[in-house]
Amino acid sequence: MTQLDVPQHAAENENLLWDTIVIGAGPAGLSTALMLTRGRRRVLVLDHGVPRNRFTDHMHGVLGHEGLAPGELRRLGRAEVEAHEGVFAEAEVASVTSVAGEDGARVQVMTKDGRGFRARAVVVATGLRDELPNVPGLRALWGRGVYACPFCDGYEHRDRPIAVLANGEHSDLKAHMLRQWSGDLVLLVNGSFALGEAEARSLVARGVRIERSGVDEVLAGVDGRLRGVRLADGRELELEAIFTNPSFVPLTGMLDGVDVRGPEHPESRVWVVGNAGDPRANVPVSIGQGAAAGGDIALALLMDEIAGAGRV
Ligand SMILES: Cc1cc2nc3c(=O)[nH]c(=O)nc-3n(C[C@H](O)[C@H](O)[C@H](O)COP(=O)(O)OP(=O)(O)OC[C@H]3O[C@@H](n4cnc5c(N)ncnc54)[C@H](O)[C@@H]3O)c2cc1C
Repeated sequence: MTQLDVPQHAAENENLLWDTIVIGAGPAGLSTALMLTRGRRRVLVLDHGVPRNRFTDHMHGVLGHEGLAPGELRRLGRAEVEAHEGVFAEAEVASVTSVAGEDGARVQVMTKDGRGFRARAVVVATGLRDELPNVPGLRALWGRGVYACPFCDGYEHRDRPIAVLANGEHSDLKAHMLRQWSGDLVLLVNGSFALGEAEARSLVARGVRIERSGVDEVLAGVDGRLRGVRLADGRELELEAIFTNPSFVPLTGMLDGVDVRGPEHPESRVWVVGNAGDPRANVPVSIGQGAAAGGDIALALLMDEIAGAGRV
């Protein structure tokens, strides 16, 4: 059966054997799906509509799409995959299990609502969760003045009042980096790490102010965007942007106990792409990883087919 034989309502048929199931319809998963559908493979994309960058209205640094809304990229990507006969279903995946079906099934995917799907390969493109420092008001402004990535959001706030909200070691390095974007820069240590004297001198020498009073609250303006912070000693600082280092939690719980494709498990039919496997992957890198995985999977499926033909 080719991709073109996939029935209209294939996602409702749990007995179908898909060439590949892609979990996650973000830039990484859509890119894999586009490669594979263009390679005339039967692809099912499962997604539950909770992308990492849903907090922001504009993407930056994505070649050819500067300033595009993240949801618009997803919409365009989905339309392109559907135009090549990829199939989409709304589903939250609960588990991925390795199987060895006589028909070539290598992976079983179960959804939270109890549906099961079988495939010859699976791609986990589920992204990650950003865990932010525990400061009142901060999370509500995530993507609306509070950011992690200077390359994504620094340029729009160039030469404006910016803070780095420290969150553990290496926060001084983040402040040094943000100096590239603004000379009006303060490091809010907020008791999160011990800033050594030499490190403090180096920051001051590069024009970075250091604020050691704790941060009591991050403040929103009437427009719903960041206005500043209130410090523990009662002072308020006016700010246009805050950059911080969240902890990154990959959304790969469904893979517990499953071998993932890589040097140690070259035979595995489970690929992990985008932020699910690499917290540094921005949108273009995630698209690239997704496309590379699409090529790898097409080759792995082909090698299985050549080996199977030899056994007949
Ligand atoms: C505030 C903010 C601003 C950003 N700005 C930029 C920017 O300007 N430029 C840039 O390049 N990058 C930016 N990024 C980074 C960007 O969001 C990521 O690089 C990108 O989203 C990674 O793509 P992905 O496909 O790996 O994951 P995602 O885009 O997060 O997609 C993952 C998909 O998997 C789905 N999913 C998760 N778990 C399951 C499950 N169990 N079952 C089914 N589906 C599931 C989700 O619903 C989601 O659709 C920003 C991030 C944030 C937080």
